[in-house]
Amino acid sequence: MKPPVLLPGATLGVLGGGQLGRMFVHAAQAMGYATAVLDADDASPAGRVSHHHVQAGYLDDAGLAALARCCDAVTTEFENVPASALARLAAQLPVAPAAEAVAVAQDRAQEKAHFTRIGVPCAPYAVIDGAEALARVDAALLPGILKTARLGYDGKGQVRVATREALAAAWQQLRGVPCVLEKMLPLAAECSVIVARGRDGGMVHFPVQHNLHRDGILAVTTVHAGVLPPAVAAQAVAAARAVAEGLAYVGVLCVEFFVLQDGRLVVNEIAPRPHNSGHYTIDACDVSQFELQVRTLAGLPLVAPRQHSPACMLNLLGDLWFDPNAARAAASDAPATPPWDRVLALPGVHLHLYGKLKAARGRKMGHLTVTGATPEAVRATALQAAALLGIAAF
Ligand code: ATP
Ligand code: MG
Repeated sequence: MKPPVLLPGATLGVLGGGQLGRMFVHAAQAMGYATAVLDADDASPAGRVSHHHVQAGYLDDAGLAALARCCDAVTTEFENVPASALARLAAQLPVAPAAEAVAVAQDRAQEKAHFTRIGVPCAPYAVIDGAEALARVDAALLPGILKTARLGYDGKGQVRVATREALAAAWQQLRGVPCVLEKMLPLAAECSVIVARGRDGGMVHFPVQHNLHRDGILAVTTVHAGVLPPAVAAQAVAAARAVAEGLAYVGVLCVEFFVLQDGRLVVNEIAPRPHNSGHYTIDACDVSQFELQVRTLAGLPLVAPRQHSPACMLNLLGDLWFDPNAARAAASDAPATPPWDRVLALPGVHLHLYGKLKAARGRKMGHLTVTGATPEAVRATALQAAALLGIAAF
């Protein structure tokens, strides 16, 4: 049976209470929906702003039942939600994206098999699922990066290896779990494309986003016409749409790419949810990635988003709360508050903090989006904001 369109007034649920869930909740509430969040943490960023907060783990029977009781549809903000939890909910109410699509995104080996199946090139790789596979590894894959097939994020669960010996040691270091060895590619740039696909198969997308990573964590996203060569941008959009189509995906999907030094585009990985590189859409587009998540979940029409301003997004990691120059921070364990008042004096700065109670190095505490009349003006302001906050120039 075709699920009904859920109009404002209905209750939308999300598995996971992190910042992505929080921004989903904000978008849903702005449109008049009630919200429910499932997260074990009593102080989760999304749980604290939601109408309902079911404080339970993803595999807690009573918790999932409570979520199903108060919601009309459920989505996820976290790709490592056990697919079985999604499947269980799907037996009772609409769930998007589907468990099967999330399962592909959860596993690098399955993800790469999907890319290959639909003819979108990815880095040369080998699945390392035992000593035999390890011994068989093609020397052409070295130097490479050994990545755990499951549960990696922000560059965690990855080891760079140059030799067979180093590869064997790295696999041991990763406790012999199933891994993927990827050839290390000469990158010129990284980019991503976010698409939203509705229940009826209709698809819309955001413009290609240029991403700068530092230490395996997204640091800066820049989006404006010409940020990447038009041919590469068009190829990335077409590939992202093919990935979503091939999964019969419903929801918001981010596809991350590498641009190689010879100009070739290869796909890196997918996220079955809104993505950090799409946070700028809140301030620089007429429809945000979170509103599109709401629309796909509710079965509402999708409209093509329009970026109305060039944008630059800076991630605000917990490190900023431990400024080495701040005497107060050095003198005690109490982290210092970054100089938000000075940053907010700059034109076109939009501050988003996620309400996390404790700052930790490398932890995503918030982001800042700069909008302006021209890419040059946006960049100049973003660099000023970065300097005030102690973020390295880019
Ligand atoms: P996240 O979930 O935050 O996107 P992750 O832990 O899933 O990160 P990847 O996206 O696989 O990690 O890799 C993190 C970064 O490491 C990439 O953005 C890229 O900068 C670098 N990297 C990964 N794979 C390769 C590769 N094959 N060649 C060159 N650089 C790579
Ligand atoms: Mg990544």
